[in-house]
Amino acid sequence: MKKLIAGNWKMNGSLAANEALVSAMLDGLGGKAPASDVALCAPAPYLAQLAGLLNGGPIAWGAQDVSSHESGAYTGEVSVGMLRDFGCRYAIVGHSERRQYHGETDTVVAAKAQRALAGGVTPIVCVGETLAEREGGQTEAVVKRQLAAVIHAVAHCTSEIVVAYEPVWAIGTGKTASPEQAQQVHAVLRAQLAAATQHPERVHILYGGSMNAANAASLLAQPDIDGGLIGGASLKAADFLQIVAAAT
Ligand code: PEP
Repeated sequence: MKKLIAGNWKMNGSLAANEALVSAMLDGLGGKAPASDVALCAPAPYLAQLAGLLNGGPIAWGAQDVSSHESGAYTGEVSVGMLRDFGCRYAIVGHSERRQYHGETDTVVAAKAQRALAGGVTPIVCVGETLAEREGGQTEAVVKRQLAAVIHAVAHCTSEIVVAYEPVWAIGTGKTASPEQAQQVHAVLRAQLAAATQHPERVHILYGGSMNAANAASLLAQPDIDGGLIGGASLKAADFLQIVAAAT
């Protein structure tokens, strides 16, 4: 399976900055398709710009969230149909910043994943424990509970999701899970997927949390780490391209 490197720009960017960043990334790839799959997830207002800039080239694009509803009176939300209209490939769901600051529960995250899949967009389902949960020995239970809600909702489509293990204590903090710590959790998630789908090997399980040009290769060398979800380092073309190179 090809690895998948997905950038999460979070709430960063501008028309001018996005154009410069994307053109530096495309220049860096030199017109060649990388050996791994690559995607960028931008804030909703810039998705149309991204669709234009990336225009069927080697980098796909995605949203950072999607509504759990199909359409209607949900002010401020973006539906999967709207994303598909522009050719969106991925939508991050259940990022810890959405769980933490927007009160998204496992049930909401599962509904979003289900809605994305039904609308033809691949959900990148984020799971991960807080520092207190890790220190309390609850890491496995937390990630399994978070993934179980999604598996329950998407049922026979489980092999079509992407999972991202993102320990909350490692996101944007510069603290990375060691390759062994990450692999241990990825193996747990793979086993959980194996009990839910005949093709657990088809599910990309990404690692996210301060992945950068220096630590990417050792993380990506782990048997159950199938790629990365990259926050801060996806805002710097050279760093992001080094991670893409490490995945090939
Ligand atoms: C993220 O936002 O998903 C993330 C992993 O961020 P960072 O790489 O900055 O830790």
